[in-house]
Parts: sequence; structure tokens; C-alpha cells
Amino acid sequence: MIEDIARKIIFDIKPYVPGKPIEEVERELGIKNIIKMASNENPFGPSPKSMAAMKEALERISLYPDGNCFYLREALAKKICVELDNIIVGNGSDEILKLIAETFLDPGDEIVIAQPSFSEYEFVGKIMGASCVFVPLKDFTHDLEAMSKAVNEKTKIVFICNPNNPTGTVVTKFQADEFLKDLDPRVLVVFDEAYYEYVDHKEYPESLEYVGEQQNVITLRTFSKIYGIAGQRIGYGVAKPEIISAVNRVREPFNVNTLAQVGALAALEDDEHLKRSFQGNLEGKEYLTRWFQEKGLYYVPTQANFIFLQVGVDCQKVFKEMLGEGVIVRTGDIFGYPDFIRVTIGTMEENERFTRTLEKVISRLK
Ligand SMILES: *Cc1c(COP(=O)(O)O)cnc(C)c1O
Repeated sequence: MIEDIARKIIFDIKPYVPGKPIEEVERELGIKNIIKMASNENPFGPSPKSMAAMKEALERISLYPDGNCFYLREALAKKICVELDNIIVGNGSDEILKLIAETFLDPGDEIVIAQPSFSEYEFVGKIMGASCVFVPLKDFTHDLEAMSKAVNEKTKIVFICNPNNPTGTVVTKFQADEFLKDLDPRVLVVFDEAYYEYVDHKEYPESLEYVGEQQNVITLRTFSKIYGIAGQRIGYGVAKPEIISAVNRVREPFNVNTLAQVGALAALEDDEHLKRSFQGNLEGKEYLTRWFQEKGLYYVPTQANFIFLQVGVDCQKVFKEMLGEGVIVRTGDIFGYPDFIRVTIGTMEENERFTRTLEKVISRLK
């Protein structure tokens, strides 16, 4: 029996529920022209400069990648005004989350996580045998006061997903300052800022400012969302050098592939693509929220490229019916909200198809 030889802990891990890939839906339902609004990828695609750089780098694919991601770290350091040894690059920020867990967590340690939030925190914690302490959101937002109270002498890491996935809400600078002021300085705080580039909230904290201070803070960002290269798997973490060098001890030597490094570097330098993507998201957000208001549907105001929306009927049914019409969304039940869905803001064409389809589906189900 595999159960006798595998680590007991792994049977306690809930499998990740990914957004359904387009190819899978095509295969299963035999329909074409499917749109995916389920995983918060950039609907405007990658930067053309990024694609060109990757095509060129294809020639060098027989060689191992640069294990230190030197040129990318150099460009990042310059852009965000830190030193090279403040930066670690990972095979997606998912990998960095796992490396952080492997670096800091022993069985019996505790981690504090908001609920609902990004499921990877629980996943990486459980793999290491840590206990997860869940703190419910307040008004769909991290309740940092309650999270502060959940910290005890066993706590090793607190995860702050900002903006939060799936709700799109942010904690403010004031809240983050207060939280960090009272925190035991031994605790590591992870600011997961996968949607950083979409934020336009005036009170959004600049978490990189915490990195140089007393507290143990690591900020995570990614090239999977606004930069549009989710398929390449690349993200980065910023922290003080002691933290980075500890995490580097558990990192595989060639964790980030060549095309990802080259593609990310070029994406970083394409401001135009970034602006276009931000603007397109803003227009999509305005269109969708206006439509939700007109239809009397409750939604959580978002700082990201997705919206958590109350459809008022069973989300699984909505999901299946929408799927049948070729529109892939995320169900809210996995986050504890069985009549919500999470939809990625798409291109205008996708957004219009989404609203048309949703209207049809809801009236069919009511
Ligand atoms: C998408 C997402 C990530 C993962 O990003 P990768 O860099 O693709 O691994 C991390 N955190 C949150 C909150 C996300 O939504």
C-alpha cells in the first residue's frame, strides 16, 4: 500500500483546482471558440518584445540557463531600486512560496492565512507539516487585526495576499504599518503582490519599503499576470539578503528556464504593453461593474484583473452552463461562497460575450 510508505501528511493536502484549460474544454465538449476567464492571465497576451526575445533565445536552448538569473535580477534591481542580493527568481512565484516553506517550516510550526485567499499558502505549508491558522476576511478584505491576534510563539509565517485573490481587495498602508509595528520580529511576512501592477488604490502600501527594515518581509511578484507570460512560469521575491540567501539554499540550481528569463527581461522593458494592459483592464472593469450594477448583481470592488461576483444561484450550475457556451470562469464554492463566481476581466469582446452569456444562464437557472 502506497499509504504505508508515503508521508502521512500528503493525504491531507487538498488538490489544487486550476482554471480549466481551453484545450480540455474543446476536447470534452467538442466546441470551438472558447474563452478562458478563469485564471487571471493577461487577455491582451504577452508583450511583442517579449515574444521576439524568446524566439531569438530559442537558438540557445541546448545550453543550461543562467542559474543566477543575472541579467533579469540586474534589471529588476534597477527598476525597483534594490540590490541584486535582495532578489530571488523562481519558476513562478508559486515556486518561491514553496521554497519559503521549505526554508522556514518544520512540522508543528504555524502559519497564518486569510480565508478565503490564494490556496497555495495552505498547500506549501501542509507539505512541510505546518498547521494552518485561517483568519476570515472582514468585508472581503484581510482582517490584519485578527491576523495579528492569531500570531503566537509557534507562528513562523503570515501570508498577506495584496490584492487578495479571489476578492481583489487590498490592505492599506496604515493597516500594514500597524500590523508590522506590533508583530514579533521573528515572524516572516509574505506580501504576495501578484496583481501589483493593476493597483491604483491611493493607500496601497509600498511593501518594498518594509524590506530594509527590522521586520522579516518578503514581497512576491510575478510575470504571469499583467506581463502576460504565465506559460513561461517566472516570478520573483524581494527581501533582505539574509532571507534571500537562506531561501537560495533550497532552490534547484537551474529553476528558471532560459526563455522565461529572456522573456521576462524584455517584458520588463516594454512599458507600452504594460500601459495598454492596465488601461484595457480598467475599461473592462468599468464596463463589467456598470453592467453588474444595472442588473443588480453584488460584486466586490476590485484592485486586480478579476471580479468576485454574486450570481445568486448555484455557482456549479452557472459554471457548467457557461462552459457549455464556451466561457470558462471560476466557481466561488472552492472559496466558501457557493453563489459567487470569480471572473477574469477580459478584452472588451470577451467581456461582452461574458455578460451576454451570464444573463442567459442566470435567467435559465432562476
Ligand atoms: C496567480 C497568482 C500567483 C502565481 O503566480 P505564478 O508566478 O504564476 O506562480 C501567486 N499569487 C497569487 C495571489 C496569484 O493569484
